[in-house]
Amino acid sequence: MAFDFAQTALAWFDLHGRKHLPWQQHISAYSVWVSEIMLQQTQVSTVIPYFERFMQSFPTIEALADAPQESVLHHWTGLGYYARARNLHKAAQMIQQEHAGVFPLQIEDVIALPGIGRSTAGAILSIAEHQIHPILDGNVKRVLARFFAVEGWTGTKQVENQLWEYADQLTPKERIADYTQVMMDLGATLCTRSKPKCDDCPLQHECLANASGRQAELPHKKPKKSIPSKHTTILIPMLHDRVWMQKRPAEGIWGGLWWFAGEFTDNEQALPEPLDCDVRPTMQFAEQTYQVEHYQALASFKHTFSHFHLHIQPVVVYLQPLANTLAHADVVAESHIQSLDTTEAQWVDFREPANIGLCKPAITVFNQLQTML
Ligand code: SF4
Repeated sequence: MAFDFAQTALAWFDLHGRKHLPWQQHISAYSVWVSEIMLQQTQVSTVIPYFERFMQSFPTIEALADAPQESVLHHWTGLGYYARARNLHKAAQMIQQEHAGVFPLQIEDVIALPGIGRSTAGAILSIAEHQIHPILDGNVKRVLARFFAVEGWTGTKQVENQLWEYADQLTPKERIADYTQVMMDLGATLCTRSKPKCDDCPLQHECLANASGRQAELPHKKPKKSIPSKHTTILIPMLHDRVWMQKRPAEGIWGGLWWFAGEFTDNEQALPEPLDCDVRPTMQFAEQTYQVEHYQALASFKHTFSHFHLHIQPVVVYLQPLANTLAHADVVAESHIQSLDTTEAQWVDFREPANIGLCKPAITVFNQLQTML
């Protein structure tokens, strides 16, 4: 009898598949969508608490569409790849406006939403709506590339097209939601990047990579390209437990997130000169003038984007309000913390940051500040 890929995988799913993840309870297109976006490039165990908090704060598409972007980014803080959160938010607003708040059921309409590609659209519609669509996320690419011993890097159009063809041919007409789930499960739990558990795999007897011992080689790795380094020395003006932060432009790196002043340059930047006791520079924030008391460099660290490494050198700038503005300065700082949606720069309590979006390096800096003080 010919090997039935889908039935074999489904039989394994019935015994070993994951069925208790938070997004597998009370399934809706919205909850599957949020989980699928969070799971891109991120492990299940990391996603679970983020997913639960997100769904609690934004239980419906309408709630998400109506929320300020600031709040959506705040719920994404630490998860990385923030374009995912911005697109999710934008797509929720599009669904409100163009689909009367109801998640669209035509795959073309789903793919037209920002941040949703063919595989994610297929996963949402197959799991939530039981429509027959194949998926091809990173996990599935790995399973199929090994099972069929597909040569070449899966990032090329040609290899990707070939994998889509296999995915399409294998997708069954029944139990589509379970099949989508099992394809993800096989890639995540058995056919892992390193040390796949072939002895436990239901596909082991038909899998070409297993038969030829080529699991470590397949799928072929992305051809190596060295990425450049950039440098930034960030100045962190500090007043008591608060630091002055700026909101980054909506588009581009860390779009809409809060960060510190400092350019990205190709060469390392010099640290500020130690201060002369007699001549102290001043800085102005929220129309108040502060005197710089001294500088302190924190430990430098590296953050890697897909296209460059960023070497970050944080420098704390200790401030003292000029005597005649002291009382007023505190009042101004307080008032700026209240008005999150309108300010583009503000004092932020680094021990307890308010409801704002922070990139991972900002959290690293906050942790450094907390251990330092
Ligand atoms: S037998 Fe091994 S390599 Fe083949 S699909 Fe299963 S886990 Fe992956």
